Amino acid sequence: MKDDFSIKGEAIEALESVLKPGTETNIVDAHMVEELDVNGGVVEIVLIVDKSVERKARFALEDKIHDALESIAGILDVKIKTLTEKGGASAPKAASKPAPQSNAIPASAPIKGVGKVIAVASGKGGVGKSTIAVNLALALKHLGKRVGLLDVDIYGPSLPTLLGVSKRPVVEDSRILPLEVGGLRLMSIGFLMEEDTPVIWRGPIVTGIIRQFLRDVDWSGIDYLIVDMPPGTGDAQLAVAQTVPLDGVIIVSTPSELALVDAARGLQMFETLSVDVIGIIENMSKFVSPSGEEFYIFGKETVEKEAKRLNVPYLGEIPIDTDIREGGDKGQPIVLSDPECEVSQKFITLAKNLLEEGDKNESAGKKKGLFSFLKS
Ligand code: ADP
Repeated sequence: MKDDFSIKGEAIEALESVLKPGTETNIVDAHMVEELDVNGGVVEIVLIVDKSVERKARFALEDKIHDALESIAGILDVKIKTLTEKGGASAPKAASKPAPQSNAIPASAPIKGVGKVIAVASGKGGVGKSTIAVNLALALKHLGKRVGLLDVDIYGPSLPTLLGVSKRPVVEDSRILPLEVGGLRLMSIGFLMEEDTPVIWRGPIVTGIIRQFLRDVDWSGIDYLIVDMPPGTGDAQLAVAQTVPLDGVIIVSTPSELALVDAARGLQMFETLSVDVIGIIENMSKFVSPSGEEFYIFGKETVEKEAKRLNVPYLGEIPIDTDIREGGDKGQPIVLSDPECEVSQKFITLAKNLLEEGDKNESAGKKKGLFSFLKS
């Protein structure tokens, strides 16, 4: 039987063919799909309709939704709950808000079987956030920790490429079994998408999918869950940050001023959400030529200075390295393929620093503050 995750992906795609009455915009883009859940093949949709839409038109719209979903194999039933938007057309659009509270996991609700949840985030895309998340997770594994990696970067889920996996997860006894590579347990929003399909999921849909990632995936028995977050500070990022019960966040930035401005913004978002900022990592800090000459392409030591200014720890740097890029493209991350090489050792040092900071805080008897999350 097809799993509910796959059905959900196909259902969302099918709804993109249903137009909002009297417009050329589909109902997903028009923020009319407030929620979409699939349980045991039963699709439940909460639809928001402007109160000016007449009963007849509403029924016709529901019929179109049934028609669009009819052909999807595995769907046993479709239940549509149509709500009228309060205050009519001028009311705020449902999907432009952060995830509704009823749909969010309270930050304090732990994920079953997981020690600590650490997010890896960035202000901008392309700064190497996913590369850092994957190699840091492998470095923690190298140090003997049991580690899971959850990729919720809806705009560019990189985990399937970075780790060379393209399988769909399997469902057993109503639990989704994470895939496994290099001893890491994996789940990625990319496992649900067709390649090259642009993502237009709105906050509530993203929230629904992530809830399933957290509640229905068998993460049991891991010490650390590393979460690769979407870059930036928009609605989707907020929805993710509010849905994933985070113990702390690591921000990745390149040394360029442009990346740093956005990194500071990202950091503020997490502070506003009362998530501990563990610190900042500088990626692509420098390029060292084969003759040993150093080139500071994006700037020199700017991330460390910014960390001081923002009063958060500076966690270290990773240089520009061809092997890192090649390893990512080939689905063989450097810490997995060559843990002894110089740059892998830098990732391992980074992971050690995190663990040591946790120990330091523990022996100092600190109960709260940075790195308190590393205590078991
Ligand atoms: P993000 O998650 O921030 O969008 P990625 O991790 O996908 O960024 O990295 C973007 C590109 O940069 C990838 O091709 C990756 O291999 C490369 N890359 C990331 N960090 C480094 C590095 N330190 N040295 C060389 N290439 C890197």
